This record gives sequence, C-alpha cells and structure tokens, in this order.
Amino acid sequence: MVSNLGNFSIRDSDQIYITASGLPYENQTPQDVIIIDLEGNHLEGPHQASSEKRVHLAIYHARADVKAVVHTHSLYATAWSFLQKPLNLDSEELHLYIGSHIETATFGATGTEELAQHTARALGNRQAVLMAKHGPVSVGSSLEEAFNRHLIVERIAHMSWLLKQSSEL
Ligand SMILES: [Zn+2]
Repeated sequence: MVSNLGNFSIRDSDQIYITASGLPYENQTPQDVIIIDLEGNHLEGPHQASSEKRVHLAIYHARADVKAVVHTHSLYATAWSFLQKPLNLDSEELHLYIGSHIETATFGATGTEELAQHTARALGNRQAVLMAKHGPVSVGSSLEEAFNRHLIVERIAHMSWLLKQSSEL
C-alpha cells in the first residue's frame, strides 16, 4: 500500500476526525488530525482535511451505523475498480464481513460531490465499495473494523484476479 494515497476518518456524534490532505501516514501525529463537522466545515487542526472528505461525509449522512471510514488505493482492489463492475466471489469471508458483493460506484472525479453521492449509493447497506478507476472504501463501527474490512476487500480482489487468470475454471 502506498501510504499517503488514502485517508481515514472517525465519527464522534456530529464531529468527524479525518486525516490531513497530502501528508504521508508515517509522518502524521495526532496533532495533524483535522476535525470537521458533518457539513464539511473546518473546526480544528493545522491542515486542510483530505480532498476526499466529501466521500466520507456522504457515507456518514447515509449510514447512521457507520463510525469509521477507510479509503486506500490498495493494488488489487484499485485494479479491479478499473473494470467498473462488481467484485463478487462466492466466499464466506465476503458474505460474513462485507455483504452480498462489493459494488463499483459509477465514476466520478476525485473531490467532487458527484463521486461522493455515487459512492454512498453504491455502498448501500454493505460494508465496502469500490470507486471506479480509483480505489476501495470500507466502513465499520470502529476504525479497527473498517481497516480489517479493507484488508478483506484487498484479499478478495487479489483472489478474484488469480481466479480470473486460471483457465482451469
Ligand atoms: Zn483516493
């Protein structure tokens, strides 16, 4: 995973704690975290919130159960997002932790409200979604849960590519 390509956030009632724009994860300290409200207004923090904050906010608006959002550009899931079709594998892991399948949202340019709305809609009531030609987003009731789901999405995408290459099937 390229560490500075991606972002995560946590919701605490009507405040969102979100990573800063353009800072590598390994150099971020708790002081670098930005606090915004549910409308995206800056409340606290020395930097600009991530340019992808609209995606996080649209998901929090759509899903009261979601307390954390993780987005990365992990290799296999991001590669799958370029196919612009659902990621679907008859896997117990997928059904148990994510939902029936992982939808790929209609393409929208980074940072736009259009992308945010497409992503929240394609997520539906499942726990992860792919943004077309961009990368995965996973959600959870805690940051740990959202991050674990992110790892599962990447594994399912990796397995799907391996199976796609097999002529035996
Ligand atoms: Zn991104």
